[in-house]
Amino acid sequence: MLCPDERIPAVKRREAKKEAAAAAKDLVELSAETAKEDLELAKEQAALARKLMLKYNVRLGWRFKRFYCHGCKQLIVPGVNARVRVAKGMVLTTCGSCGRVNRKSLAQA
Ligand SMILES: [Zn+2]
Repeated sequence: MLCPDERIPAVKRREAKKEAAAAAKDLVELSAETAKEDLELAKEQAALARKLMLKYNVRLGWRFKRFYCHGCKQLIVPGVNARVRVAKGMVLTTCGSCGRVNRKSLAQA
């Protein structure tokens, strides 16, 4: 079966992906800023960015991914709804909504 996206020329698809990546980056940065004043609005912005990333198959680096909880996929902002600790060579970010501890090795960060 032909995927509907395959009917769109490759060049156009690549450009759409680039635009989606740029928009998602802007949205994640914006949501991290917004979280300090309005957490609910910030969560909506982050959800929109995630939706864009899923639709256009965009992967962002740790700089942007760290704002998402691996458990509940919601926005986590250190100092607002997340706790960050460093232990055993790891960055431990505890989500304020679901309590999941998101781990990142310091060697990779
Ligand atoms: Zn969570």
